[in-house]
Amino acid sequence: MMNEIFSMADGRTFSTGDVILEYSYLLAAILFVVGLKLQSHPNTARRGNFWAGAGMLLAIITTLFFHKDNDGNFIKLFNGIIIVGVILVGSVIGFLIARKVKMTAMPQLVSFFNATGGAASGLVALMESYNLQNRAILVTLLGMVIGSLTFSGSMIAYGKLDGKVGDIFSPVMKYVNIFLLLTITVLVIFIFYAGTSYQNRNVFILVLLGISLLYGVLFVMPIGGADMPVVISLLNSFSGIAAALAGFIYNNQAMILGGILVGAAGTILTVLMCKAMNRSLLNVIVGAFGGGGYGVSEKDIGTIKEISVSDASVLLSYTKKVVIIPGYGLAVAQAQHICSELDNLLTEKGVEVKYAIHPVAGRMPGHMNVLLAEADVPYEKLIEMDNINPEMPTVDVALIIGANDVVNPSALNDKSSPIYGMPIINAHEAKNIIVMKRGMGKGYAAIENYLFYDDKTKMLFGNAKDSLQKLVTEIKNL
Ligand code: NAP
Repeated sequence: MMNEIFSMADGRTFSTGDVILEYSYLLAAILFVVGLKLQSHPNTARRGNFWAGAGMLLAIITTLFFHKDNDGNFIKLFNGIIIVGVILVGSVIGFLIARKVKMTAMPQLVSFFNATGGAASGLVALMESYNLQNRAILVTLLGMVIGSLTFSGSMIAYGKLDGKVGDIFSPVMKYVNIFLLLTITVLVIFIFYAGTSYQNRNVFILVLLGISLLYGVLFVMPIGGADMPVVISLLNSFSGIAAALAGFIYNNQAMILGGILVGAAGTILTVLMCKAMNRSLLNVIVGAFGGGGYGVSEKDIGTIKEISVSDASVLLSYTKKVVIIPGYGLAVAQAQHICSELDNLLTEKGVEVKYAIHPVAGRMPGHMNVLLAEADVPYEKLIEMDNINPEMPTVDVALIIGANDVVNPSALNDKSSPIYGMPIINAHEAKNIIVMKRGMGKGYAAIENYLFYDDKTKMLFGNAKDSLQKLVTEIKNL
């Protein structure tokens, strides 16, 4: 049955297996797209993951059974067993890692997964670049370069985010990187034109691999800690491009499409993050942002005023409109559930409660949305920055929970500030401001925030989860 042959008008022939394979790839591609679409809303995101995963599983199973090499041979049983074994081991490891990892360590995890994706595509391309029958040698070499630099760059990004690798910055590195990039380009062109009969070809391929790995390291090494999420997103798009290039080598539509989707999504995310931080990608790659290098500009910064839990409870309970502005500290404290409880209590008392969501609050795009969805905060209550800002002057209390940079007015009015130009949530326009944080610690950009010294601002110091718990207890007793 599987060998039944269909002949095309142009003389090409297909077996039933070929047809099943092609249709399964088409179905997988549709599932990838449906999955991506569903992932765009927190309520459907889990289902999106499921369908995209189902698409991938379908593509893997049909490839195992129906893929044929250039000589028309199916995958050998022994090779099939190795492939299935490796997939199972990888799946178990991935499952265990993902289960253990905390939300705040998600960027590290994504970085690690990017590294494995880059390594897989890079290795495929390396093996195929030795294959003298390979007719897509240029694509293969590009796949090897992008895959290997994605691997080494992502491993460095992982190390930096996890505090295992420090920033190493020297102005010379920029020139070294340009030199390496030019060398890579020259080597690719040379290997391509030298052809398969050139006897030192394999040596040059290995040199190209080594330089690409080195480039990945040196490209990520000097980038400031605050810019790491943007770089991770960029490397994510590289890993997709590397997978798509590997798909071209085998003329495999599922790999090409899956890779292009990852590449495109990563690129869009990178652009969105740069826009939300008001920085160009070039500025991210060559400029250092944050990391403590900036001083506080000289001006009268006023004084810090604290508020007690009981005063804060009264202020929040007997008011009309409260806007909660969550930030990285809420995620660190894992205070989303108790925050939702406070929201419910206030809502029961007739207070209108909304959440102001900054696009780069936290440490990854959508961080706050995911966190609050986890605590069952209705999605309708999460208002995007551009929509909440016009409302801010009418807000009675802006309750800032573990946010700092995303409410820093220096971004609007201090040209010397490294975050100048970044859009912020206009908490300073609210009638009253309560800031919940542990002390006077700085935010990601490592700069002072004059909002904390504003006449309208009161600080409620302490771990966000503890302070929220105290507020909830106090309000229940009011
Ligand atoms: P942030 O500026 O990093 O500030 C977080 C604040 O939370 C700190 O000032 C800290 O002050 C406080 N905090 C930490 N642990 C806490 C705890 N357990 N309880 C209470 N407070 C705690 O956070 P953000 O306002 O969310 O801004 C995000 C930053 O990340 C921006 O600079 C953004 O550009 C950058 N970034 C984000 C993304 C992204 O995709 N989301 C990407 C790239 C860059 P204390 O130490 O005093 O408690």
